[in-house]
Amino acid sequence: MIKQNVQDIINKQIQAEMYSAYLYLGMAVWCNDQNLNGAAQWFKLQAKEEMAHAMRFYKFLEETNSQIVLKAIDPPPAKWGNLLNVFEDAYKHEQKVTGMIYEIVNLANKEGDHATASMCKWFVDEQVEEEAQTLEIVNQIKMLGDSKGSLFMLDRQLGKRE
Ligand code: FE
Ligand code: CA
Repeated sequence: MIKQNVQDIINKQIQAEMYSAYLYLGMAVWCNDQNLNGAAQWFKLQAKEEMAHAMRFYKFLEETNSQIVLKAIDPPPAKWGNLLNVFEDAYKHEQKVTGMIYEIVNLANKEGDHATASMCKWFVDEQVEEEAQTLEIVNQIKMLGDSKGSLFMLDRQLGKRE
């Protein structure tokens, strides 16, 4: 039995993961509009991962006989200045999500809820990867300078993500 306050924070996290998917889809749309189709592909795959994250929390609530409550999802931004800004926002967003995951773990520990704390371990590890991969791309873009050719190469490389 998962306590109500823990159920509530997990339901909030389902919403946050779905918003993440929406945010990355918004970034994919922007990249496509800029003819950065490789980066768009990268963000579409990231959006898919976020939906899988949401479903992981969903499944946990299902398995623990908890109440699943689906909330409204805000629209994502539609405009960015350049590709660096897009990946900087993605990195900032993942840092924020890490904080949210830590809050769930803290609450679970406070409530003696070992099941929730254990389920969150996967997410703690996943967030290390999420932050590392977005920060790596931010740093790569910063190294490019103003050359269109190197941006083109990076876009191609991003499009190879599987
Ligand atoms: Fe996520
Ligand atoms: Ca990931």
